[in-house]
Amino acid sequence: MKIGRKITLFYTVITTSVIMFFGVFSYLFATRYIDRLFYKYLSDKALLTAQLQWERDEIDEQSYERVGLQYERTLPQASELLFDADCVTETRRELNRYLTVSQIDRLYRGQQIEFSYQGQQGVAVFYPDNEGNFVVLILSNNMYGDLIRRSLFIGMVVLLILGVVLTFFVGRVYARLILMPLKQIVKEIRHIRGNNLRIRLKRETDRDELDDLAQTVNDLLDRIDSNLNSEKSFIRNASHELNNPLTAIQGECEISLMKERTSVEYIEALQRIAMESKRVSQLIKNLLFLSRDDDELLRGGNEAVPLIGFLTRLCKEQNAIWGTDRVRFEPDTATLVGAYLTLDANPSLLRIALLNIIDNSCKYSGNCPVDIRLSGDETQTVIEIEDTGIGIPKGEIERIFQSFYRGSNAREYSGHGIGLGLSLKILNGYGATVDIQSEEGRYTRVIITFAVSPVSDGGIEDSADLKITS
Ligand code: ADP
Repeated sequence: MKIGRKITLFYTVITTSVIMFFGVFSYLFATRYIDRLFYKYLSDKALLTAQLQWERDEIDEQSYERVGLQYERTLPQASELLFDADCVTETRRELNRYLTVSQIDRLYRGQQIEFSYQGQQGVAVFYPDNEGNFVVLILSNNMYGDLIRRSLFIGMVVLLILGVVLTFFVGRVYARLILMPLKQIVKEIRHIRGNNLRIRLKRETDRDELDDLAQTVNDLLDRIDSNLNSEKSFIRNASHELNNPLTAIQGECEISLMKERTSVEYIEALQRIAMESKRVSQLIKNLLFLSRDDDELLRGGNEAVPLIGFLTRLCKEQNAIWGTDRVRFEPDTATLVGAYLTLDANPSLLRIALLNIIDNSCKYSGNCPVDIRLSGDETQTVIEIEDTGIGIPKGEIERIFQSFYRGSNAREYSGHGIGLGLSLKILNGYGATVDIQSEEGRYTRVIITFAVSPVSDGGIEDSADLKITS
């Protein structure tokens, strides 16, 4: 059911219930009042009848005439029955037609009894007199009361029907008015397509819930737009980066095939092709990594990685590539007392993350040594990688984590501009923060801080000489 119809129905049901409640309440109240008034008249009539009948000898002529007059004016259509209360058996039998036994008992005790008999209302009064005890019974139709009651009932029903119809239509108009801005928003959203994501919803001046909705949709569009843009630029850059080595491979093949070559030349050409292919394959691997969700990327393969042994091995690998003693690793034994030295991580991913950073330091620092430091305490474990190379120009540090961004002073070095982004993604996934301090032409220091959530003290075996206490 549409919201508009729901609002209309809700509104109608609520209003009808309220009208019905007050209608029934007023009807019952009025009915009760009419009954009470009529019983009062019947009671008066019973008293006047008794006075007229048995007081002639006790009051003066004038008063008696007045009683007579009142008697004629009060309920002239009423029927009166007079009984000699002292003829108990006979009177009780007669009264039994109109009253129950308990009512007759109460009547004999002097109470006035109100009752209904065949659609008529009646009053029975016990009247003690000097001539004896009597019972006066008055019966009458409450014609006016019934008329008022009926009119009241019809009035209520008409009011209810009118109320329902009126509230239904007013509810519809009201629902339409309320939903108008919402419909407008839906209409505007329908116009937004993939190629015009720049359109934004119009905002109202008063800050109501619908305005909040418009604002939220606008924020969502902002995010989608910016994601789409960065995805577009990612694809553009990725295609560009893939195109370069592929063009090189293609060129190499074409040149080699232009004429007959010696086997040495073929070997050299194939080596160059193999190198470019390796670059393409590595690039594709990195791109795949970058395109995966964080959860997917970091799911599975986790194990306790003892940091000291792990960094020592990385260091050795890098020295084999970049030259002996190029990369130096020294755990800060003074601060490492009490530190947790084992990380819960996927060793291959951690390797990719740290290698990218160490590799950058080697690449951008000529022949200068690269220092890796490990320090920590009970709350954090810190890995620092520092080189004294070309540094990063001021104002570019914030941007170097973006995919395909390359420093303005790094163009003559090989690279694709995705290594750091990948490292950041992996390290952030393991709860680490990455901070870069650098000065162009002087140094670059990458500080990786793991807020410690210890796995075990598995690092001890790798660092037995460090006296690790935890
Ligand atoms: P790549 O090294 O392939 O260009 P990265 O994502 O690894 O891509 O690095 C992005 C940019 O950050 C590099 O192009 C370079 O400008 C800068 N950079 C990273 N590490 C260093 C470093 N140790 N020294 C100087 N510049 C660096």
